[in-house]
Amino acid sequence: MRTAAQWQALSEEIRFRSEAWIDGAFHPAVSGETFPAINPATEQELAQVASCDSADVDLAVHAARKVFKAGSWSNASPAKRKRTLLRLADLLELHSDEFALLDSLDMGKTIGEMVNIDVPEAVDCLRWSAESIDKVYGEIAPTGAKTLGLITRNPIGVVAAITPWNYPLMMAMWKLAPALAAGNSVILKPSEKASLSALRFAELAQQAGLPDGVLNVLPGFGHTAGKALALHMDVDVLAFTGSTRVAGMLLEYSGQSNLKRVWIEAGGKSPVLVFDDCADLDKAALIAARAIFTNQGEVCIAGSRLYVQNSIREPFLQALMKVAAEYQPGNPLDPNVMMGPMVDKAQLDTVNRYIQSGIDEGGEIAFGGLAEYTAGQGYYPRPTIITGTRNDMTCVREEIFGPVLSVAGFDTEEEAIALANDSRYGLGASLWTDNLSRCLAPTASAAHWRAAWCGSMAGAMATPPCRSAASKPPVTVATSRPMRWRNTPS
Ligand code: NAD
Repeated sequence: MRTAAQWQALSEEIRFRSEAWIDGAFHPAVSGETFPAINPATEQELAQVASCDSADVDLAVHAARKVFKAGSWSNASPAKRKRTLLRLADLLELHSDEFALLDSLDMGKTIGEMVNIDVPEAVDCLRWSAESIDKVYGEIAPTGAKTLGLITRNPIGVVAAITPWNYPLMMAMWKLAPALAAGNSVILKPSEKASLSALRFAELAQQAGLPDGVLNVLPGFGHTAGKALALHMDVDVLAFTGSTRVAGMLLEYSGQSNLKRVWIEAGGKSPVLVFDDCADLDKAALIAARAIFTNQGEVCIAGSRLYVQNSIREPFLQALMKVAAEYQPGNPLDPNVMMGPMVDKAQLDTVNRYIQSGIDEGGEIAFGGLAEYTAGQGYYPRPTIITGTRNDMTCVREEIFGPVLSVAGFDTEEEAIALANDSRYGLGASLWTDNLSRCLAPTASAAHWRAAWCGSMAGAMATPPCRSAASKPPVTVATSRPMRWRNTPS
């Protein structure tokens, strides 16, 4: 791994792509408008980025539809599509350091996470989707002897992908890889808070041989470019990752336009349960800290609600605070730093507001607290643990999307499960116990869950990396639904 000084030197050489990518070329926004991309660690401007709106959306949809109809990608042989996407994965891997820097500079993620998690997972996602192209078969429907019913998998058409800023490259890949693999044309609207890696990726896709118009990238705001895409009558699918609030709006936009399919992945408020029969409490504390403090807590499945059995509450808290101390925010380009700045001032203010509400509503700050902000020195939060919380407190009910952990106790398993399930979110959950029956009970009820882990927190990802796809019929549809956790069978 390079040193901080070496990453810094490399970052000074980087060239930012900042215009919209439509039909295989960069263009300024039709309006000529731009917005600044700001490095949250330094508050310095990285680039002025094209601010797309409905006029750019029209151009991109036209290009995407045209190439879809022409069939150079949508009708290309599976072998050709696979070769192209594998080449693209190789190119992405070849440019790992550049992509690691792009997201780190653009949204404050630590370089260590980019190098070890985001970029390799994005490459894996592309490779997995590419490999699936010639391995996912159609089906023959059960019919009477004189009837033949075939179920084939065809691309839908024009897919609009709208992504958040917390894992810019990885979230883009979760949308692009399966949609492109299926033969669709795609228009990606990355978050206005982190669009630089998506724009660079589009160039690589052309280099890999993707026909022009198959992938278009429109930087811009949600209420302009995002809304225009979601309302467009010639967009067939919306694939969205972001907040629950905006997910709801997209469902409405679909209803107001052409009833396009909407696949959403939304917010979370994930519980972590620690039982007193967990043999390795130090490991549990290590992972519980990682679950909330990784990526500054800007993670959809962040383990933000901790419930600890009262008999071990104090020793566990001590172990947790010891690990939390390692997450002191610092320069994200330093590979030894485990926490960078929040993505922007608004997000830092949000985090402080939730911490203050935790104090006002009766919680106690056991670690960290309100962050002090000095203009021009970055949006650095303080990793924070609030104890004595109740499920009716704002900081326990709402997604904070920052490094803030609420901690409460429980006595019985039944109580723990009730506390965990008392949430309108349902994205991820983990539990720590050496009782295998207790472990398997929630896993068995996974139908209500997006993901449940036992003895880890998103630590043992399954091989298939893609969460949503735009093929026909849908491969996976993942939403944020209330989870339900069953008791251990007696
Ligand atoms: P957000 O909902 O504010 O924005 C997401 C995207 O939607 C952005 O590109 C934004 O520009 C766009 N958008 C905003 N308003 C829009 C509108 N009216 N019409 C169309 N598009 C619009 O979310 P965010 O702040 O970027 O990301 C954080 C959220 O994402 C958190 O809630 C987090 O939990 C969630 N998230 C979920 C997952 C998952 O897999 N479930 C993964 C990552 C992030």
